[in-house]
Parts: sequence; C-alpha cells; structure tokens
Amino acid sequence: MPVPLLDLRAQYASFKDEVLPVIAEICDAQQFILGAKVETFEKEVAAYCQSERAIGVTSGSDALLVALMAEKIGPGDEVITTPFTFFATVGAIVRVGAKPVFADIDPVTFNIDPAAIEAKVTAKTRAIIPVHLFGQAADMDPIMAIARKHGLIVIEDACQAIGAEYRGKRVGSIGDYGAFSFFPSKNLGCFGDGGAVTCTDNAKADMVKILRNHGQSKTYFHEYVGGNFRLDALQAAVLSIKLRKLDSWSAARQSNAADYEKMFADAGLTDGRITLPAKAPYVVRHIYNQYCIRVADGKRDALRDYLHQQGIGCAVYYPLSLHLQPCFAELGGKPGDYPESEKASAEVLALPIYGECTLSQRQMVVDAVKAFYQGK
Ligand SMILES: *Cc1c(COP(=O)(O)O)cnc(C)c1O
Repeated sequence: MPVPLLDLRAQYASFKDEVLPVIAEICDAQQFILGAKVETFEKEVAAYCQSERAIGVTSGSDALLVALMAEKIGPGDEVITTPFTFFATVGAIVRVGAKPVFADIDPVTFNIDPAAIEAKVTAKTRAIIPVHLFGQAADMDPIMAIARKHGLIVIEDACQAIGAEYRGKRVGSIGDYGAFSFFPSKNLGCFGDGGAVTCTDNAKADMVKILRNHGQSKTYFHEYVGGNFRLDALQAAVLSIKLRKLDSWSAARQSNAADYEKMFADAGLTDGRITLPAKAPYVVRHIYNQYCIRVADGKRDALRDYLHQQGIGCAVYYPLSLHLQPCFAELGGKPGDYPESEKASAEVLALPIYGECTLSQRQMVVDAVKAFYQGK
C-alpha cells in the first residue's frame, strides 16, 4: 500500500538500538511482572501527564474498569458518557454492572457536549466519563463544574490523548482519574497491550494499585476483589524509552495536520464537501491520534472505498454510535436519539497522519481525494 493509515516500522527503526539491549536485560533477569521497570515508568508517565500518580495496568480498557471499581461503581449506578467513542469506554461501565447514560456530542470536536450532560444527571448518577477523542481534549471546565455541583466522579478517557492539553493542563490531570492506553496505534504505544491510570489523589491511586493486583495489600491477603491488571516489565521498559520521544512524534503529527489544512484548501476541497478537523478554542495542544475529516453528502463510504482502491489507508472511527450497538439493545437506544453522534458516524473518515508519513505520501492522499470528486 503506497500510503498506509499507520506504519510503525520507521518509528521503530529510530529507537531499535536503544530498546533491544533493554529487552535483553529483562530477559536475562527473568523478572517480567511489575518491579523496578514498571515503577520507573509510572513515575515518568505521571510527571509527563502532570499527575501526582500513575499506575501501570494491562490496557486502556482495564484502566477504565479499575477506576470504576476503585469508586465501587456498580449495579444501580449510572455513568454519563458519549455515544461516539471506542467501545471500551462504555464496555467498562457495563462490565461493573452500572448503566451507561449517553449525552450527545459537540459536532465540531466530536467530544461530549457539556450542555447535554446536566439534563442526564439523576439521583443514581455516580460519574462522568468524558473522552478526549482523536487526541483533542473535551471541554473539561464545564464538565468539572457539573461534576462538583452534583458530587460526581470524573474519569477522563485519555486513551487517544496522551500529552494533549486543555487550557494549559494535561489531560488525565483534570478529573479524578485519567485512563491511558498504550495499544500500539496510540501516540505512545508499547509492543502489545498496556495502559495506565493517573490520579491526583493519593488514596485513590493506592486503591487502584491494590485492585490492579487482585485486591491484595500484602501478598495473599486480599482486602478487595480486584483483578490481574498488571503491566509487564517489558512493556514498561519499551514505554520509558518511547516516552522520551513522544513530544517529537506528536509535533510531527501536528505539523502534518497543518500541512493537510493548506493542501486541502489549495486543492479547493474545503468548500463544504469535506470538513477538516477543527481545534476547539480551549485546546492548547491537539496530539492528532487520528486525523478525521467529515465527508458530506453521503459520500463517505464511496470515498473510503475509492481511497482503498488507490492504495490509500483510511478508516472509519466509528461507524455505529454506541447507543445502537446490538449488545446495548437493552438500554433501549433508537436511531435519532443522539443525532450528532449518528451524523458523525456516517461522515467521519480518518486519513494517514503518523509522523513518518512523508509530504509526498500526504500529497498522494490529497490528490486521491481530489480525483474522487473529479469522478476519476
Ligand atoms: C484505545 C481506546 C481504549 C481502550 O484501550 P485498550 O488499550 O485498547 O484497551 C479506550 N477508549 C478509547 C477512547 C480508546 O481509543
């Protein structure tokens, strides 16, 4: 494929010499679970996220799950979140036995609309999970104000947004908890699955740490029923090395986004046929985990198929609003309930944005989109 949606091989080549000896060192020591490498990475990632603490876990999905467990959120409780996100955000709520309650999104940022949240608060509401989708922060000030007014916990789903900033604050440091994913396609990805929970409150962080290892505060003495949510030493070591390069990789994505803006405008395509991602006024730093354009006039699927035929990687994040997923049918969601989320599902298309994607490759993307509209 001339332009893949994501190609991690060039990135890997840039730190291969650094990472392989560290992997060999861990293999020689045969110390794979938690330990010094994990503790070091936890300190580094907490500092990077401007949070008091970070706890390494198995994945972003488990980061969300363990944060909900730490708050003892479960049956009879409601958690407000967005219907336009990766499945795991809502999956975590259902897995603890709580009920997800959706609030529609802001069409500009694709993030939960704070104005839609308050009407959804009931006596059963325990938490809000805003998602910083595609690498851009949700509007956290009004979300925090609603949460404080009603005594709700805020868990930021920052899985796509490590290093993103809201009014000068790093995501994951604003709410009570931040959930991060180190799935390979995220801006900071490990060599498998990994994740972290950030907390500003030490007592909350201690609870997450206990739950991460089967609720034991002392070996084989279990105060709570937790789970195996432990991060591997190998993943932590890879992440420590990659974290030092993250800012330069995110800067390359920002620079690619700025180029696209100019290139699509020069191609005359920003006349309403496509809409480029917009930065919210409160966003200081968008890290572009995805570069999602909107395609108007019902042409999204046709454009996607055309780009694939031309060897241009692109993908739909996400094609079905979560209130319409078969597994959540019990919640009674119907088409039309969350019009902005449903519209986004029908219009979004992610284009290659990774840092190593060259200017000529990006030109091929823009040329192919142009050719599609010229009927070629
Ligand atoms: C990736 C992602 C998750 C889940 O992370 P995993 O590490 O894949 O479990 C959760 N929420 C969002 C918004 C994500 O993008």
